[in-house]
Amino acid sequence: MVSENMLEILACPACHSKLALVGDSWLICQNDACRRKYPIEDGIPVLLVEEGDKYVEVPVEELGK
Ligand SMILES: [Zn+2]
Repeated sequence: MVSENMLEILACPACHSKLALVGDSWLICQNDACRRKYPIEDGIPVLLVEEGDKYVEVPVEELGK
């Protein structure tokens, strides 16, 4: 579970923009020029640029839960 407090301190590792929580499984970069998406695995956000790169082209609606 990612809490609101945790969201406040998390930032995109690529561009350092804020992240938005989608469901309980994804953190989405709020920078339109970046749009990397980071999965949350077993409650741990995987904030790696290489990981976010994989989902840049995937629309938010199509991300797996
Ligand atoms: Zn970003």
